[in-house]
Amino acid sequence: MNEAERLHAFADELESYARKVGIHALTLDAPLRGFKRVHAAVTPKSKGLGQIERINSSEVISKTQRHSLFVFDVDIGDLPPLVNKPSFDWWNSLCQRLPVKSRCRLEKKRGCGVILRVPNRFGGAHILLYWGGNKVRSQHFQIYRLESAYHEYLTRRVGQHSLSRRVAVIGVGAVGSRVAEHLALTGIKHLTLVDSDDMSANNLGRHVLSRNFLGMNKAFSMAAHLCNRMPGIDITPFDCSFRKWLTIAQPNDFDVIILAIGNLAEERLWYRRAWREGWTCRLVSTFVEAANLGGHAISMQPSEPGCLECLYEAEDPAALGTLRTVMLEPGQSSSQEISGCGAFTPYSAITATRTALLAAELALPGAAIGYHRWAGSDESAAALNLRPSSFWHALREGRTLPFITRESYLRDGCPCCGN
Ligand SMILES: [Zn+2]
Repeated sequence: MNEAERLHAFADELESYARKVGIHALTLDAPLRGFKRVHAAVTPKSKGLGQIERINSSEVISKTQRHSLFVFDVDIGDLPPLVNKPSFDWWNSLCQRLPVKSRCRLEKKRGCGVILRVPNRFGGAHILLYWGGNKVRSQHFQIYRLESAYHEYLTRRVGQHSLSRRVAVIGVGAVGSRVAEHLALTGIKHLTLVDSDDMSANNLGRHVLSRNFLGMNKAFSMAAHLCNRMPGIDITPFDCSFRKWLTIAQPNDFDVIILAIGNLAEERLWYRRAWREGWTCRLVSTFVEAANLGGHAISMQPSEPGCLECLYEAEDPAALGTLRTVMLEPGQSSSQEISGCGAFTPYSAITATRTALLAAELALPGAAIGYHRWAGSDESAAALNLRPSSFWHALREGRTLPFITRESYLRDGCPCCGN
């Protein structure tokens, strides 16, 4: 590594270095690109400099608290070694290192402090020098490091980038909540969440959300959770069914719609409609098998061959029929319907997560159109006296592939995609 490369690498890790030196942190929740001046909210102290509570480039900060800071670009090579209590010498050293023109500009700047912006691969590291109302700024000032916590930085930091595609997740249960979470962390900036159900204690064993959200709508709760988890994300929640949502939303406004409602009979009807109306968005259907036998994630492009219906037995005259790739041998029930309000199907958080990851992958740009499926162990099934299907055995024993493209499962004369 030559000197220039070493300095670039140092600029990339400047935030971590400042943390190690023990410099106090403030959160930067929006990029400072394009800003020459920002505001700091300061809590005054009876003696000496006040304490900066937060800085913000756009949010309103009351005038009594507001101190203006100017933003100043500094090359990493011009920054003296960081210290948590900078002195007159440190300031002097910074000025001496700067090119003459920059030094004059820095010394002439007004305001209560300066944010030194050091360019790096992730959009910049920031060190704040705050002198408040002191006229002789070089003699008494505080130093802060700004921890970048905005969408663009966080996604770049993990080797991704912000993705402007619009994705709707229908059904924010154990699978849907994880699909939404992983898409948010992967850089998808615009998410729509649809679910009419509320969080109940029953859900805690396998849902992303905590008991703080008990009794609250899952779509709205998940939106609140993800906005907190991934700053700068844009989430629109709907407390309604998919049917109702379709009366107010346009499927073609989305790049991808993911159905994680776990009701294949209903989904098949929606797919018929999608093909009939020629929706332009990609559709992903995802569901798990009872007793942790496995999971499925299938992507489809309406108006093109290959759909969920293709996976059903052609000759089956019953309206529901049987999925050819079902993993529980047909004719067995995995849940007991006692109360009449819907049965609870046993499967674990791991089964939900593993399946959700496959569905999330299918929603990313460049993903192939096809069918992911995985087979888990039959231990839970055996404990419940349930038998896996021949398809489960084939998948488990490697006689069929875990991912196939749509060409492999097209059904002749499919009543939905018309293949
Ligand atoms: Zn089809």
